[in-house]
Amino acid sequence: MPREGVEVDVAVVGAGLAGLTAAWQLMSAGQSVIVLEARDRVGGRVVNHTFADGTVADLGGQWVGPGQDRILALAEAHGVATFPTHDDGEHLTAVGGKVVRYTDRTLGLPKAALAEIGLASAMLDRMARAVPLEAPWKADKAERWDGETFGSWIRRAVHSAAGRGFYQTATEAVFAAEPDEISLLHFLFYTAAGGGFERLLATADGAQQDRFVGGAATVAERVAEVLGPTVLRLGCAVRRIEQDEGGVVVVHDGGVVVARRAVVAVPPALAGRIDYRPPLPGDRDQLTQQVPMGAVIKCLARYDEPFWRADGLSGQAASMDHAVSVVFDSSPPEGTPGVLVAFLEGDHARRAARIAPSARRALVLECLVDLFGDRARAPAEWVELDWCQEPWTRGCYGGHLAPGVWTRYGPSLREPCGRIHWAGTETAGVGNGYMDGAVRSGERVAAEVTAALADEQAAAEAALPTEPGPPTEPAPSTLPAEPAEPGPLGSGDGPGRGDGVRDP
Ligand SMILES: Cc1cc2nc3c(=O)[nH]c(=O)nc-3n(C[C@H](O)[C@H](O)[C@H](O)COP(=O)(O)OP(=O)(O)OC[C@H]3O[C@@H](n4cnc5c(N)ncnc54)[C@H](O)[C@@H]3O)c2cc1C
Repeated sequence: MPREGVEVDVAVVGAGLAGLTAAWQLMSAGQSVIVLEARDRVGGRVVNHTFADGTVADLGGQWVGPGQDRILALAEAHGVATFPTHDDGEHLTAVGGKVVRYTDRTLGLPKAALAEIGLASAMLDRMARAVPLEAPWKADKAERWDGETFGSWIRRAVHSAAGRGFYQTATEAVFAAEPDEISLLHFLFYTAAGGGFERLLATADGAQQDRFVGGAATVAERVAEVLGPTVLRLGCAVRRIEQDEGGVVVVHDGGVVVARRAVVAVPPALAGRIDYRPPLPGDRDQLTQQVPMGAVIKCLARYDEPFWRADGLSGQAASMDHAVSVVFDSSPPEGTPGVLVAFLEGDHARRAARIAPSARRALVLECLVDLFGDRARAPAEWVELDWCQEPWTRGCYGGHLAPGVWTRYGPSLREPCGRIHWAGTETAGVGNGYMDGAVRSGERVAAEVTAALADEQAAAEAALPTEPGPPTEPAPSTLPAEPAEPGPLGSGDGPGRGDGVRDP
């Protein structure tokens, strides 16, 4: 394998939260690193939009909540604060042609449906607790639960139209996929990974509790500043990774990186588009063919005022009757101007993607008018992002697994292939699919690679003759004489810019 290019210990593919965390941790552990990012920005699935009036809002990942400790620690370490999601006032549920206002735990649903949902959710929570987060395929009932879709389970367990509508809308909101696209085992794993279904749906004490001041992308941008431009290479889509017993060669749009190990921190669907030489084991290749991304179009409407607050409304709505599944108040911390975020998810997103942008905007605004009244019709500004059209993401919020995939290919999600290691939120146990999972995967892979490099170094040293022998050439890549202490997230002790990168 020819080895001409920039030399480092580790090449990281992807500058989303996972790749950035991995790079930061690896550098803190004394490794030299290059991060290769296809886009001309960092953050991947977190991205800010700045309206003409200067208001910043999230077009990608936005909320954090209790239990999401690693993304919160990363943000804190880089000086990014959080603020509470606006949660005061009555919420709305559109069901059976009516819009119902509520503030309690009834979700605005009819009593009979609520009773069914209570029973079904308790059953799901009990089943979810039996799924090992690091190895869902090892659950006692894994084969059975992976043998059907979540949709077929709902049809057996829930009979009322409103009850079924609730799970349909909730699945779209959490997975950006339909209940028939995911296996029951995947539903159980994912909800357990996020602390339970109720927590994933909730604002107070839930996954939508808080937001980042300045937008979630600020966290990624701050880590990128610490890495610096020598380490972080934008516009460098990775096309090929070659490996042999000596190292890896990573071929990207801006050149070639020669490294001892590679970390691929992109969703499986994207990882499967890289050309690996020699080819990866069949299980890994098949896995990447079977973890599709969800479908979502995220829409932001900016109004001069958050007029719904004056009407006693929180801005939060869920609809079983409209193309828009959920709406939140996404105004800045000061509360003005007012921003509503509306999601088209799953089949709604796919159908809406086929119509003209003007018709899509009209469709979403009509939903907002039904929910919040006529003032919703004319936002001062409007922006939408269809994540399925993003070539370096190809859908959101994350990859999901249909029946049979966890039990056939589960271990291949994370198991390294020789010198290639895998990260990204889809590889996480806790926080899978979320920003927290991305950060956890970055930390996990950094530890994995550091240990592998240390083992290699130890083996190389053990192989050296004990008696003085003939002079030897230095190793192609060496650790610094005094490796820096690994900086735990939260210490703020990041490495200096461009540490250890050796251009030829
Ligand atoms: C609309 C939306 C709403 C969401 N809401 C939330 C939320 O409220 N809370 C939450 O916690 N999470 C949310 N998420 C999910 C969250 O954003 C993701 O889980 C997380 O950001 C994933 O980070 P990652 O690093 O694993 O992957 P990514 O962010 O996808 O990073 C992968 C990076 O790799 C790059 N890349 C891909 N292929 C290549 C290649 N061949 N060569 C080089 N670079 C490549 C990509 O450009 C990208 O920058 C949301 C996501 C979306 C899109």
